[in-house]
Amino acid sequence: MLVFVLNAGSSSLKYQLINAKTSELKASGLVERIGIDGILKHEVGENKKLTFELPIPTHKEAIELVLRILTNDETKVINSISEIEAIGHRVVHGGEYFKKSVLIDNEVIDKIEELIPLAPLHNPAHVIGIKICRELMPNVPNVATFDTAFHQTMPEENFLYAVPYGDYTEHHLRKYGFHGTSHYYVSNEANKLLNKKNSKVIVCHLGNGSSVCAVKDGKSIATSMGLTPLEGLIMGTRCGDIDAGVIPYLMEKKGLDSHQIINYLNKKSGILGVSGISSDLREVIKASNDGDKRSKIAIEMLCGRIKKYLCSYAGLMQGVDAICFTAGIGENSDLIREKVCEGLDFMGIEIDIDKNKVRTPGIREIHKETSKTKIFVIPTNEELVIAKDTYNLVK
Ligand code: AMP
Repeated sequence: MLVFVLNAGSSSLKYQLINAKTSELKASGLVERIGIDGILKHEVGENKKLTFELPIPTHKEAIELVLRILTNDETKVINSISEIEAIGHRVVHGGEYFKKSVLIDNEVIDKIEELIPLAPLHNPAHVIGIKICRELMPNVPNVATFDTAFHQTMPEENFLYAVPYGDYTEHHLRKYGFHGTSHYYVSNEANKLLNKKNSKVIVCHLGNGSSVCAVKDGKSIATSMGLTPLEGLIMGTRCGDIDAGVIPYLMEKKGLDSHQIINYLNKKSGILGVSGISSDLREVIKASNDGDKRSKIAIEMLCGRIKKYLCSYAGLMQGVDAICFTAGIGENSDLIREKVCEGLDFMGIEIDIDKNKVRTPGIREIHKETSKTKIFVIPTNEELVIAKDTYNLVK
């Protein structure tokens, strides 16, 4: 079954065409700067990379363009749009409504719209993507896969904030967690390797946005992101955990309103804010190696925060069988993996420095033979989870 996987953002659109039965990736791409000017980067296989720069005023035009490229004589990977049998949409926020992927009907769309106050940047774009697909391919079923769904198994003590309980019951104030599709995929791969009934896995999804998740017996029991993706780890431009008192203090000192302060903590903080160099960790590591003090401290802060979550989740689960590193930083930076695991031998976590440095595609084991806890690098694949969920619901 050919599944078109779509991740619609406010001015961008990521897509993949996947044979969900065989997991074969037929084509993938990214449309950026929708409504500004427009650029489409399309990939078929390993070697064929195409870039198109042309005005793309709306999401509808973006999706129409992608469908044309998938079918048009020179670039085609399928003969006709009718070969697409189902569409899987990534949706950031499913609130407490969605504990797994669902077939989309009008009621599902209403709920995704109802959750817009909890994900004002993401859910509106997802709704636009869904509505356009229904319009352009009216006979094709649509499925939604939610970033929050995997974390719906968290127990109340791990998702509540310590504020009056009525804020949860009346205003839905709680930790939802994000990156759930990635945490699910990676922990599931780790469980296949561990091959034991009761498992304790910690997934470190470290990219531009980062989060840690404690997965016990295949279920998320705690995660570092919260009501919004701002909580938890120090990220490219997000501050992660801070004292709530920082907010009114900075608002007063800098004359910021509530919108501006959230923007400040989401877009100008984190690695970028501390280093003053970049939100791209590669540039910050380079600057640190060249002697830049603020870059060095940003890296120490980043690794220290991950270590703090790692140890607290190991405590929460009373042990850890496997630690998994994934996403841009987790998959590619041996420095960060080494620093995070450094000194944790006392807990049975022993990284093999040489194995950690070897770069090969696919899953890697980077622990010492003597390590009680296994340490894996597992490339994430959220799109494949969406394609498989879509296939299972549609077939
Ligand atoms: P993602 O959001 O998963 O695409 O991850 C993107 C981030 O991965 C970028 O901000 C980069 O800083 C980071 N990254 C990619 N490769 C490396 C690397 N070799 N070393 C350190 N960071 C990297």
